[in-house]
Amino acid sequence: MKTELFRCQLNHITKTLLAMTPAQRLTVQHVIQVSQPEITINELIQPIFNSSPQCPHCHCAHFTKWGKAGSVQRYKCFSCHKTFNNKTKTPLAKLHRCELWDKYAECMSLKLTLREAAAVCNINLKTSFLWRHRFLMAQSEHNHEKLSGIIEADEFFMAYSEKGSKQLKNNRKANKRGGQMSKKHNESKVTILLSIDRSEHMVSHVLAANTKAEIKSYLQPYITTESVLCTDGAHAYEEIANVTQCEHKRLISTKNRVIDKVYHIQTVNGAIAHFKGWIDVKMRGVATKYLSHYLAWFKETRTKLDKQQILAAAYQYQH
Ligand SMILES: [Zn+2]
Repeated sequence: MKTELFRCQLNHITKTLLAMTPAQRLTVQHVIQVSQPEITINELIQPIFNSSPQCPHCHCAHFTKWGKAGSVQRYKCFSCHKTFNNKTKTPLAKLHRCELWDKYAECMSLKLTLREAAAVCNINLKTSFLWRHRFLMAQSEHNHEKLSGIIEADEFFMAYSEKGSKQLKNNRKANKRGGQMSKKHNESKVTILLSIDRSEHMVSHVLAANTKAEIKSYLQPYITTESVLCTDGAHAYEEIANVTQCEHKRLISTKNRVIDKVYHIQTVNGAIAHFKGWIDVKMRGVATKYLSHYLAWFKETRTKLDKQQILAAAYQYQH
């Protein structure tokens, strides 16, 4: 009888869902997510620790349980005799108030600013900054994506910024909001190479200089003879196509933005605009030394990484 009742209810729900607009369905999805029981940080990271249990000091697999600190299990290594817990030597180790990480990771998945995240978690700006960069450190190591099929690549520029540095090198004047630089300061721009395939895999690199050699050295390893490379007219891409013998679609003419209805660079250009808008407007510029962190974060939020994945990545990051 219960099964019958459930089936009846399910039919009703399905019918209602099908009659909804996509926006209404998203709201329902959100309500379901919110109502799901949250797992604790420990429940999240303990299985990861258990999957490859070892002493974080000497990597020996022989250790024993060694009491608890609060609710956290401690261990002692038979080899180096040091004690540790499941967070020792991970980016999460030096962060206190771990009951708030979950909330903080959610703020990151929503791409909130430092100040907004600090307000949501009721922590100070300094802590917000420290946490963000601990989490981001893990993200920037995840640049091992592979690209396949149609690959769009383009380079773009961001103003060089030392935002947050107290002593600016060469007495350079602080650049307001990391925004537009004058033409005289062209050397103060940073070049970023972004490549995306049609399955939304994304690879980004902050280049040391805007040169053919730099573009080749970062992009070429991702290109095979099976790739179809879509780019603008820059010669670096032509050389990559020649060396790898892949098909190359050059989108040069402003009139001809799409070739054969599928070959274009609109995905990569859209992502670049999105990234620049996020950094320049929302974040009011970021320090150049952190750009690769932000690119990694951007990539992860594009693929809708949730807060648990952010926490798990931060935990598993190897120094
Ligand atoms: Zn050890």
